[in-house]
Amino acid sequence: MWNDAAAAAAACQRVPPRWSVRYNSVMDQHPVPLVPGRLVVISGPSGVGKSTLLRRLLEQLPQLVPSVSATTRPPRVGERDGIDYHFLGDAEFERRRAAGEFLECCRVYGRQHWYGTLVDEVVPRLSAGQWVVLEIDVEGTLSIIERFPGAETIFVMPPRSDELEHRLRHRGTESPEAMARRLEVAHRELDHADRYRHRVVNDDVEQAVGEIIAILRSAGLPAAPIGAPV
Ligand code: ADP
Ligand code: 5GP
Repeated sequence: MWNDAAAAAAACQRVPPRWSVRYNSVMDQHPVPLVPGRLVVISGPSGVGKSTLLRRLLEQLPQLVPSVSATTRPPRVGERDGIDYHFLGDAEFERRRAAGEFLECCRVYGRQHWYGTLVDEVVPRLSAGQWVVLEIDVEGTLSIIERFPGAETIFVMPPRSDELEHRLRHRGTESPEAMARRLEVAHRELDHADRYRHRVVNDDVEQAVGEIIAILRSAGLPAAPIGAPV
């Protein structure tokens, strides 16, 4: 469990929705738009392999539409604005957060940088019947579960507890301080695995991708892509 649950909740913004669609009556307290598409969330601790699995899934499943998150973290070498993330300055992120433009947003890892899912990346596509996939952290997923209880949430688990450190070291994108923060958070995040609808161990990438595809097919993934919203 979170040792600092209050701080964690405060860090994670539950933003009231600004779009106008009909709401499902069961969820009046946490409005959920009644939309034909489906939300898929790939989540789990840093370094577990979420981005790797998502890349493979998108290659194999053109029916899945990725949501591009916004972040205040600087781009890494090779990352492109609008494709890997919408890279925003602190003031712009805050302006959009205050305007209710995020479905959820969090200060991830030691409260250093903001990350958030934009309403406009998700809701129009769900309304058009598409399956939208988010790759977000655990705290953000807990907000999404409140608002979209029907989401297919998938927690990616490491095969062994020391494997996250090994993978993050090998990826080589984090300073020693950032890596220590990510690992500390990761150990707390593992406690939330049972809040997710599905759990997949990422030992072998191909096997984990196969398991996720099987989960999505049995959840009713359409056989072919659905047209983009007009
Ligand atoms: P995340 O998005 O969860 O932070 P990444 O997808 O960036 O994690 O993966 C972290 C590192 O682990 C990368 O260097 C990636 O190539 C590697 N990796 C991912 N899945 C596996 C796996 N099943 N076995 C070994 N290494 C993996
Ligand atoms: P990175 O900096 O390595 O790209 O991502 C750091 C973490 O932020 C990852 O765990 C990733 O899943 C998470 N993240 C990325 N986008 C979002 C988002 O929109 N919302 C939340 N809550 N987390 C996100």
